[in-house]
Amino acid sequence: MSQILIQDVRLIDPINRVDRESCDVLLRDGVLAELGSGLEASPETVAVRRPGSVVSPAFLDLHCHLRDPGQPWKERVGRATAAAAAGGFGAVCAMANLVPPVDTVERFRAAQREAKAFARVTVLQLGACTEGLEGASPAPLEELARAGAVAFSDDGRNGIGLEVLVRVLRRAADLGRTVAVHPEDEQLLARVNPEGEDPGRWHLRPPDAELSAIERALQALRIVPQARLHLQHISTARGAELVRQAKAEGLPVTAEVTPHHLMLSGAELEAKGRPVSRCNPPLRTEADRTALWEALLDGTIDALASDHAPHELAPAEERAPGFSGVQLVLSAVLGQGGAGAHLPRLVEALSAGPRRVLGEPGRETGGEGLRTGEPASLTWFDPACHWTPDASNWLSLSTNTPFWGETLRGCVLSTFSRGRMVHLNPELVPELARA
Ligand SMILES: [Zn+2]
Repeated sequence: MSQILIQDVRLIDPINRVDRESCDVLLRDGVLAELGSGLEASPETVAVRRPGSVVSPAFLDLHCHLRDPGQPWKERVGRATAAAAAGGFGAVCAMANLVPPVDTVERFRAAQREAKAFARVTVLQLGACTEGLEGASPAPLEELARAGAVAFSDDGRNGIGLEVLVRVLRRAADLGRTVAVHPEDEQLLARVNPEGEDPGRWHLRPPDAELSAIERALQALRIVPQARLHLQHISTARGAELVRQAKAEGLPVTAEVTPHHLMLSGAELEAKGRPVSRCNPPLRTEADRTALWEALLDGTIDALASDHAPHELAPAEERAPGFSGVQLVLSAVLGQGGAGAHLPRLVEALSAGPRRVLGEPGRETGGEGLRTGEPASLTWFDPACHWTPDASNWLSLSTNTPFWGETLRGCVLSTFSRGRMVHLNPELVPELARA
């Protein structure tokens, strides 16, 4: 029998509304056996202590591009999910925009097979909203849900019009599934970008495209108010304001923000001069960035999501948009040292928030929070420790992150997912590495 006693941690469990100093956590064969103060270590127990560290429910990432099957040179399921575990995530939502997209049951099963064979953490696979992500006709949502789709999204694309979106919301509502929308109005983008190119590669992506897409999605939600609508990677102050108003109106809408939109303006990214391309939607102004923080802290934005988008480094004109980064979500947002009083809210946005977005399909990932007698799904991290993403510790196959080589704050010590230790930092917790 293996027993691990993590001593004297701060327990932040937003799911059960617990925030408690000096707590001990006893794990017995992967089960969360006891929580309490002054728990005794028996002779066979490995006791570990790291002052100032935190134990929380395992993080859940709402927005991960695994690229595999389809583009194995960009990312592999094993690499992305090892990076996720090292980032404190016990589960990730895999987007449907694989090549080809997950818009049929056969493709869904192929993605599941890959995940089953190689994933380190729980992979919650999404299905496409529409065939080919093109927005013209709904995908077989009922069949995809029966096969296990936890939610639906055409992420990466937004070619969907009001009428089709209403149909998708209606059917997803009957299935108890959330519809996640990438809010960049493709019709508006098509008017300002050159014809013929892949819409994902269009360079001109004005804030109005976000606003127009959010407004249309909310309009659809008013027609189907029993649905669950989630707005992905909000990038503008006005976008966040629309979400705030919609929530005040009582609409069942949720939203996420990425660490890069929170931490960097477009000008700051430019100034870094790293060969990492850009992202969709783009990084905006300093005023937008500040407004996104406010929206995250006041609960307008429910979740922090990585939008892990691995791509090979390429010459500037060939670079695909997006950043690899599931490993550094926590560290990026703690990066400026501003965590302090906000730490519980950030943990909430990484654990309870994303599960609220998914509803029922997110429960099996540790959705009950830190409950004794259950297989452990938890993240143990030290918010004060520093690390630098570089070739010695980076786990994703692609290194396209604007945070490469920068000193970040916050190290994940260990992650448990459904009773399995899926990550351990052997340098920071050598006692467990030896055990
Ligand atoms: Zn997207």
